[in-house]
Amino acid sequence: MGSRNFVSVEEPRRNERAPQEREARSRPPRARNPIGVYVHFPYCRRKCPYCDFVSYKTELPDIPHTRYADAVIAELDARLSSSAEHELATMFFGGGTPSLWEPRELGRVVRAVERAFEGRSATDVEITVECNPTSLDVDRAMALRDAGANRLSVGVQALDADRLAFLGREHTPDEALRALEAALASGIERVSADLIFGVATATAVESPTEAAEEAAETRRACAACENVVLDLAACL
Ligand code: SF4
Repeated sequence: MGSRNFVSVEEPRRNERAPQEREARSRPPRARNPIGVYVHFPYCRRKCPYCDFVSYKTELPDIPHTRYADAVIAELDARLSSSAEHELATMFFGGGTPSLWEPRELGRVVRAVERAFEGRSATDVEITVECNPTSLDVDRAMALRDAGANRLSVGVQALDADRLAFLGREHTPDEALRALEAALASGIERVSADLIFGVATATAVESPTEAAEEAAETRRACAACENVVLDLAACL
């Protein structure tokens, strides 16, 4: 993700200041020096062949849910002094597959971050959890919502079965759509679907036109898709 500049450093000229100040007063307060907290969860059910993220194939019973949450909270404590001048704007749980993390433990981390930034948080902190279709049903989506998540990012990647197989993904197109529907059914309003384009399969390289058609198909295929944002990333 690119960095965003929320803070203007330009001083208005004296004769322009009054209207600008009036306008500023009518706007809701903005976080100053906003900061996003990223929490990485490095465990996956299997390792996709194209993946260069820090992620480890781990059998479900071997995932150290509680110990990993303890470690993240300890690291948060160790880094707190470097964020003293910042206000919390977002939290992002990425991976790996954070939807595999027991929501109880993920929620413990959410609350630890909220406590760390008490009095220094935006009014509506966006809390995103990345989810894989094979670890997201309605119950899990609701549990993540109860843990504090207000945005779910679903790794759809493609709706073409051959392309998913080529990418080494373990889900089918139908499972991807069911995961999107589960995310929306949980009551979480912000749902996004990640799609990969430019994939070179055994027969052809996916063109930008095909990628656009697939994005449109994803939107059509999911009944409540007006609430889903589609994120496209090239696979080079
Ligand atoms: S699920 Fe995501 S993080 Fe895990 S191996 Fe596949 S691409 Fe990498």
